[in-house]
Amino acid sequence: MAFLLNCPNCGERNVHEFHFGGEATSRPTPNSTPDDWISYFYNRDNVAGVQREWWNHRYGCRKWFFALRDTVSNQIQETFWP
Ligand SMILES: [Zn+2]
Repeated sequence: MAFLLNCPNCGERNVHEFHFGGEATSRPTPNSTPDDWISYFYNRDNVAGVQREWWNHRYGCRKWFFALRDTVSNQIQETFWP
């Protein structure tokens, strides 16, 4: 399914120019428990709704940015720099 994604650097482009980097998660602190690190590396929320995601403009400026995307409707609400 194709849709337009707004790169904060280049503007709106076809989503096929981009690489999906997965949902954005918060890195545990260095003294966190092993369970926290396992959860960070392997568990995802898999939200049915709006989530913050990493995207890379692979065939454009090659910069990484965040997008707020509704995973149900595929609507992009906002894109912004980390
Ligand atoms: Zn770009």
